[in-house]
Amino acid sequence: MASKKNKSILVSLAHPDDESFGMGGTLAYYASQGVDVYLICATNGDVGTVSPEFMNGYDTIAELRQAELSCAAQHLGLKDVILLNYRDSGMAGTPDNEHPDCLVAAPLDEVAEKVTHYIRKLQPDVVITFDPVGGYHHPDHIAIYEATQKAYEAANDPDKYPEAGAPFQPQALYYHVFPRRFLRLVVRVLKLLGRDPSKFGRNEDIDLEMLAGDEDYPRHVEVDFKPVADKQKQAAQCHASQLDMGPPSLTGRIFNAFRSLAPSKDSFMRAYPPTADDFHATDLFVN
Ligand SMILES: [Zn+2]
Repeated sequence: MASKKNKSILVSLAHPDDESFGMGGTLAYYASQGVDVYLICATNGDVGTVSPEFMNGYDTIAELRQAELSCAAQHLGLKDVILLNYRDSGMAGTPDNEHPDCLVAAPLDEVAEKVTHYIRKLQPDVVITFDPVGGYHHPDHIAIYEATQKAYEAANDPDKYPEAGAPFQPQALYYHVFPRRFLRLVVRVLKLLGRDPSKFGRNEDIDLEMLAGDEDYPRHVEVDFKPVADKQKQAAQCHASQLDMGPPSLTGRIFNAFRSLAPSKDSFMRAYPPTADDFHATDLFVN
């Protein structure tokens, strides 16, 4: 008798660390339940800034960040990591954003065809990517969202990307989303303290104020990853070069204080098949 295929998830993201900082708890949770979790990481993360002490033994930032990613993948229990090897595009308006090898310079069809190939080859039940604003408006996050969306729509159509394998229809496409209410609170507190909420994060490229103004996406599925919360923390620690923020800033401390109040849950909007806004489930595999 043929053995039944394991349930599987394909996650399509932009940078080495997106898998751990974003929805790592959910990935570790499903891996711990015997689900095959595959990750597509579109860029090498070569634009992240790195302090020299982390470069020991590595020739390039891309090599270092790939090593950090394999460390994280082990803690999360990922089945495989697929690198598309684009260059990190940095933020809009920076010279990196103009580089010909960067993800945003690649034609949408080229990236979508690659993602289609992996959907057809791995035959995941569930595909996950960023929301349409890429979580925080990072150009690479938006680019891989667009490519994954297009790939999902093409995967079961024999006329689309015929070179990318035999048609396959996954069960669902989800966007990882996070509640803006939490950010609005952080922005209010930062402003009260005279801080600039538009220059947040290690690379000062996260505009919390703009994010807080974004509309909330529906949260159709909330996955509780409490039993494996430690694995998410260990995976995040693998990305040491991106965690090194020097002495903790007041802004960072406030953000972390708020975040520690949040329960161990990740939220997802179901994009396909479409569902009512008030649909609510606690498992990505529920129909
Ligand atoms: Zn990212």
